[in-house]
Amino acid sequence: MQVFISVLVLGIFFTVFIISDTKSYKQRKVEDMTTLAQVIGSNTVSALQFLDEEAAGEILFELHKVNPDIFQAAILDKKGKVFARYVKAGSDSLNIFNLLRNKNSLFRDNHLYVKKNIVDGGEAMGEVFLEAGLNELKELKKSKFESAALLLLFALGVSVFLAVILQTYISRRLLALVGVMKEVGRTGDYDKSITDDGKDEISVLVQGFDRLMQQIKENLRRKDEFIGIASHELKTPLTSLKGYLEILKQVEDRPVNKQFVEKALNSAGKLEKLIRDLLDVSKIQGGQLELNPTEFEMGGLVDEAIAAVQLFSQTHAIIRQDDLKNRVVFADRQRIEQVIVNLLTNAIKYSPGEKKVIVKSHVTSDELVVQVRDYGTGIPREERDLIFGRFYRTSKTSVHISGFGLGLYICRDIIKRHGGRIWVDEEDKGSTFNFTLPLRKMVTKQQPLLNISNEQDFSC
Ligand code: ADP
Repeated sequence: MQVFISVLVLGIFFTVFIISDTKSYKQRKVEDMTTLAQVIGSNTVSALQFLDEEAAGEILFELHKVNPDIFQAAILDKKGKVFARYVKAGSDSLNIFNLLRNKNSLFRDNHLYVKKNIVDGGEAMGEVFLEAGLNELKELKKSKFESAALLLLFALGVSVFLAVILQTYISRRLLALVGVMKEVGRTGDYDKSITDDGKDEISVLVQGFDRLMQQIKENLRRKDEFIGIASHELKTPLTSLKGYLEILKQVEDRPVNKQFVEKALNSAGKLEKLIRDLLDVSKIQGGQLELNPTEFEMGGLVDEAIAAVQLFSQTHAIIRQDDLKNRVVFADRQRIEQVIVNLLTNAIKYSPGEKKVIVKSHVTSDELVVQVRDYGTGIPREERDLIFGRFYRTSKTSVHISGFGLGLYICRDIIKRHGGRIWVDEEDKGSTFNFTLPLRKMVTKQQPLLNISNEQDFSC
């Protein structure tokens, strides 16, 4: 675009220049020829007075020596009769007298025609007519157009060269910015910073983007801080509320009232789970989620988790299909139970109308694998990694099944810190959630997460 505009402007500039140059050349030519006609007129005054046609003819003949471009010259007497005439050999001239009937000069077909009155002492003696070729103008125009074309070509080359250099410089910086934007969009890592030393609009754009990232980071930090404080403050009154409800449930004999208390307890339980999850998220963000690893037998824990979830589900049968025995792992028992319970609860929650959930576990050379299989809604392929992000819920389920998108995020962090992996597999119907725990002792101490948004790097 820059090249096109530069060449267009130069083209217009050259054209205007050549047109104005041609115009002034023509003006000069008319003045010169008029002067020449006047000189001829003055010199032929006596010849006209004495009717000496021969002398007038000689004056006209001498013209080809003075100006070889003269094609035709003629003198008319005061009656309008041709007194003397000169026509260049081989020239094929038009009727000059008709052409200049109402004008003193005329340009036509690369020829200039001029007429001048012969006056002596205020008395009109006749007229001089001249026709001159304009080959010089033709040559001048040709050479001007050639130089303009050469200059345009040169300008085109220089513009292309400069544009390429400029484009590379601009593109490189813009591509760097786009790269960071993509990276931030993919990982949600707002800690990425980008600098640009330029002083142009791109640098303003880069600085604006950087400021925006800082603001997002600060807002996310404040939001996390608020969630942490709010859930902490909610925990104490909710615990005492639950305690009073438990007492009320025990002392209340009237069946209707007892039913109301049970409903209130159920709701308080849900609230407690949410607050627990929010506190866990807040701890994960601050790097304060403590793990208390001990050695325990995994098969027993799986059974306990199944029993705990089964207690609250009348719709689904949770079936264990393995005989994992005496497999001792070194892990935080309570946290691993939390993971299994979360996966089982999800399996039931996201398979409405189905009747079973299958739990399998096995060991490989260095890992213990637990699988929870359901026959529910399944998870779209493109969302299979995203569901482990904070607050993420799939478009399929988020509308009609309640939830907060925190459980899998917490599970992922717990498993990751045990040195294991967690992922979901595609099934014909429903899905299978898998997690592994290493068979050798391995629990990492948690670092505060720098990345405070939905991390989507799930290669745990
Ligand atoms: P929540 O269930 O509270 O929304 P989770 O973090 O446990 O939060 O799950 C995140 C999302 O992953 C859910 O909202 C749901 O969309 C999807 N999901 C989890 N488990 C399953 C499952 N077994 N089948 C289908 N979708 C699931």
